[in-house]
Amino acid sequence: MDYGKLKKNFEDHRFLTSYFETREEAAAYLKEKIRGEKVGFGGSMTCQEMGLYELLKENNQVVWHWKDEMTAAEARRAAMDSTVYILSANGVSETGELVNIDGTGNRAAASLFGPERVFYVIGRNKIAPDLHSTIARAKNTACTKNARRLGVKTPCAASEELRCYDCNSPARICSATVILERPCNGMTVELVFINEDLGY
Ligand code: SF4
Repeated sequence: MDYGKLKKNFEDHRFLTSYFETREEAAAYLKEKIRGEKVGFGGSMTCQEMGLYELLKENNQVVWHWKDEMTAAEARRAAMDSTVYILSANGVSETGELVNIDGTGNRAAASLFGPERVFYVIGRNKIAPDLHSTIARAKNTACTKNARRLGVKTPCAASEELRCYDCNSPARICSATVILERPCNGMTVELVFINEDLGY
């Protein structure tokens, strides 16, 4: 991971950045930084692998549709009303853009409006050289692997090859593609880079 390049290009775009060698160091940093907040989570294998929900629960009110006792729909709605939102990205461009593709749209929506602070936790496997290759990575790698995890009936989940077929399946998990070029107005957005492979 070329953190020097990422830092320069994302900070030129008004994002904050930080860098850690390990997931444990990044998780400890977030635990210190986020206290007394209502924290919402987007669907994220990276957050899951870092144990962030359990860690942040010690000092915050947390809500995640993967974990909470409320229904997934209730939890998604409650997370929209959080003060801090944590998610990963399906792709991160070295030129300073983030790409996320959503089926339901709750993650994309909360990352753009509502919370005051948004943290993206980003493993090195998410990074691509430019926006074009980042979108391709998000579609062909992240979405395809998520489709397999979810066991949906889509061509990408059935294929041996990791690729998007731009399907018309009723089970399609890709409804909206968000390219975040700058933090939305009124939000502080920090990218927490981690020098490990995390999530898809
Ligand atoms: S558009 Fe369809 S084929 Fe492409 S990644 Fe999404 S679900 Fe899979």
